[in-house]
Amino acid sequence: MHPFRSLPSVDALVTTVLPLTTAPRSVVVSMSRTVLSDIRAKGDVPDAATCVARVVDALEQLCTPTLRPVLNGTGVLLQTNLGRAPLSGAARTAMQAAAGSASIEYDLARGSRGERNRHLSPLLAHLTGAEGGIAVNNTAAAVLLILTALAAGREVIVSRGEAVEIGGGFRIPDVLRQSGATLVEVGTTNRTYVRDYEAAINERTALILCVHTSNFRQLGFVHTPDKRELADLAHRHGILLVDDVGSGSLIDVTTYGLTAEPRVPENVDAGADLVCFSGDKLLGGPQAGLIVGKNSVLQRLAKHPLMRAVRLDKIAIAGIHATLLAYVMQHAEAEIPIWQMISSPLNSLAERAHLLQKHLGAPWEVRPTTSTIGGGALPTDTLPSWAIVLPCAQPDTVAAHARRLAPALVGRVQGHAFWIDLRSILPSDDPLILDACRHLASDTDAI
Ligand SMILES: *Cc1c(COP(=O)(O)O)cnc(C)c1O
Repeated sequence: MHPFRSLPSVDALVTTVLPLTTAPRSVVVSMSRTVLSDIRAKGDVPDAATCVARVVDALEQLCTPTLRPVLNGTGVLLQTNLGRAPLSGAARTAMQAAAGSASIEYDLARGSRGERNRHLSPLLAHLTGAEGGIAVNNTAAAVLLILTALAAGREVIVSRGEAVEIGGGFRIPDVLRQSGATLVEVGTTNRTYVRDYEAAINERTALILCVHTSNFRQLGFVHTPDKRELADLAHRHGILLVDDVGSGSLIDVTTYGLTAEPRVPENVDAGADLVCFSGDKLLGGPQAGLIVGKNSVLQRLAKHPLMRAVRLDKIAIAGIHATLLAYVMQHAEAEIPIWQMISSPLNSLAERAHLLQKHLGAPWEVRPTTSTIGGGALPTDTLPSWAIVLPCAQPDTVAAHARRLAPALVGRVQGHAFWIDLRSILPSDDPLILDACRHLASDTDAI
């Protein structure tokens, strides 16, 4: 007998699976067919009970989201793989409210069509000193839009030290090629002067592009020109200065002992025609690329066909608006999670760690550690922190167990221990951490 003859029929499988699932019949039929054809393709022939279990598993997998909430115990505050900035309560509320119908392109006062860009421009102007601002899907989209709209078919001058890769496949030379502009590299890897830019300007030049070297640092014999001098040079020659500051910041990070990150208002003030920065790095909002600068130049972006492809949706606009408002009201450090994390005093982290440990008892311990900013910002900076630590023989097994919890807990494996850094966790999530840790400690096999 051919081994496949012993496989259940689709009908038989569906009849057995239907009472075991809430999925509608047509979905069960389709999944049963898929599972049976997989079995035929692989050539292994399981018994009928295994076939049933595989269909039930496949249905459960289909209906379980892979995008799940995570408690970030890694100590990397802007963990790119965990969605960078966690959002403020105000941002979450605003995004929820915008999830229904919302006046995204509707002028409620006049009862007629409105402008998508008008929602954020006044706040961006107020906060950065620019004439106005627009928002797109992310900073990569912002740079692509700027180069396509302002420099396609022309030349863009970039310092050799700034023709960088940001991560996630975003490389300045590649984006330039994609935009249809020609990259003209000037200077050297470590030193570039205003006169290098000047020598490269000709009638084909559209703009000078500055790119913040966000995720690495050059030390020692290094020179980058003053932005104000570069802006003067550009304007003397009738070309534009565009400044991609990456994360940027609206708050002075040196207050917290960190290396200076470009301050968006200072970069605007230096005379750049456009400055772009990220919505979900140190700004602390949802994913977005924010472009501020001169209205005449912003107009050219807004009218370009690519704008339609990279525009921001109503939910992200609502979240960015609420996030920007926290800066206007000067509540950012108190309200925006990334700033709450950065500004959290060391002794309050120690107190939280000790309190959690007291509830958990041995073998949990409290240990000092260091956090990093992440998200391609402040690559060499660390912040002191405290962690609760589970010493164990198989920390990888504990970490895997932690990732299966709901919400998932992602920590750090270091030495023979599983670490949860409290700086990347908001105090309001401590009860969830306690719950998660209690589950872990009951998994004694790995300890
Ligand atoms: C992070 C970064 C980008 C990309 O920003 P996204 O918002 O992730 O697209 C671009 N340029 C610089 C300098 C950056 O630091």
